[in-house]
Amino acid sequence: PCSRPLLAAALGSAGRRPLLRRPRPPPGPAAAAGLSSGAGEAAEGADAAPAMLRHLLLKLRATGPITVAEYMREALTNPGQGYYTRRGDIGQSGDFITSPEISQVFGELVGVWCVSEWVAAGKPSALRLVELGPGRGTLAGDIVRVFSQLASLLSKCDVSVHLVEVSPKLSESQALTLTGGQVQSSPKDTAAYMRGLTRAGIPVFWYRDVQDVPTGYSCFVAHEFFDALPIHKFQRTEKGWREVLVDADPDAPGQLRFVLSPASTPAALNFIQPEETRDHVEVCPEAGAIIQSLACRIERDGGAALVADYGHDGTKTDTFRGFRKHRLHDVLKAPGTADLTADVDFSYLRKMAQGRAATLGPIKQRLFLKNMGIDLRLQVLLQNAPDAATREQLRLSYDVLMNPTKMGDRFHFFALLPHHRLERPPRSQQGAPSPPLPPVAGFTELVLK
Ligand code: SAH
Repeated sequence: PCSRPLLAAALGSAGRRPLLRRPRPPPGPAAAAGLSSGAGEAAEGADAAPAMLRHLLLKLRATGPITVAEYMREALTNPGQGYYTRRGDIGQSGDFITSPEISQVFGELVGVWCVSEWVAAGKPSALRLVELGPGRGTLAGDIVRVFSQLASLLSKCDVSVHLVEVSPKLSESQALTLTGGQVQSSPKDTAAYMRGLTRAGIPVFWYRDVQDVPTGYSCFVAHEFFDALPIHKFQRTEKGWREVLVDADPDAPGQLRFVLSPASTPAALNFIQPEETRDHVEVCPEAGAIIQSLACRIERDGGAALVADYGHDGTKTDTFRGFRKHRLHDVLKAPGTADLTADVDFSYLRKMAQGRAATLGPIKQRLFLKNMGIDLRLQVLLQNAPDAATREQLRLSYDVLMNPTKMGDRFHFFALLPHHRLERPPRSQQGAPSPPLPPVAGFTELVLK
């Protein structure tokens, strides 16, 4: 009764919100930030920029050049002026758009994935949905709706939602999406800084750090989260590896530029492997630490983690770029007014799981969604669409998610699961061969019976 097509078919039949188009443009030549800041656009409408830039220039004067990781952390999540703290404008009218904002089907299928892993784990008595970097709360909202639609399956399960978010502005949006804004703040609380109830009565909690989320069987979801975490950048030179740093430009007052560290840095010594063949490498230690902690939790408590992002398997070099109003934006211009991002290195995430959890993927979004039954879901929505305009929107949003030239091939899914989920024990206790393990949804081809 819990096969993927049946789970997907059990979902409601209505399109819910207007469907949007316009994902981030693919990185063009301007995205290659390289070692010069280039001639980017002026700091138009840059309310946060002067304050952030002033702050950075003072800091640079006091400490000398800073790592790209520190620059990125300041520009994105500085508590006063960071991009996500103050702006974080996701959506059609904002700076970039993400898959959950394009179509409700995306979140529904991720919800089905969580339920199908929970079923495969033997229906534990509690299910925590933990989302890292939930943006406007759209994905969590779509997943929770799936939980409600599959209420008969989950009726005896204690379901709760745990959101890891550092941005006060975005946590407000999430609260509005999930609870209609009915939340209680507890800023002094060391664990959850806010809590509320969804309209269906599911408790929701907010944290600043995944370490604060209570342990127990959990399904972790991270969509376009890891690409927002700070990266270190390294350049191979004749004298060995040097770290790329951000400094004030002495020739252009009020502007920033990239420089190379004069000697090796602790990060270069720690993060560059002796067998590295690339000349330019980006490493995100914070992503590594988070994956390590998810892998430990999954090893101890069971559960699953689904990471979806654009990225590569340890092959790409310079992917650091900025986005503002759906256009590429010079990463060093008007910090605090643009989203900064770098492709996720899935090979590094796999390594940082340290064998504590099994890993699956990365697999292209197009294949993952197909394996999850997106075509069936689309058919149901098309059949029930009230008019031709809705049908057209459904088809267009499907195309954005699935088309290899749009998001289909650029985004990848990667999962962490307990080893016992993938490796069949040779014999049961009675000595009989153990039953076959159910396939992991999304990562294996969908077979319709
Ligand atoms: N998942 C959403 C939003 C992606 S944008 C979507 O796909 O639409 C990145 C999200 O991560 C934002 O919510 C941002 O505020 C959050 N974020 C960025 N850095 C973070 C950090 N260090 N800890 C927790 N959340 C962070």
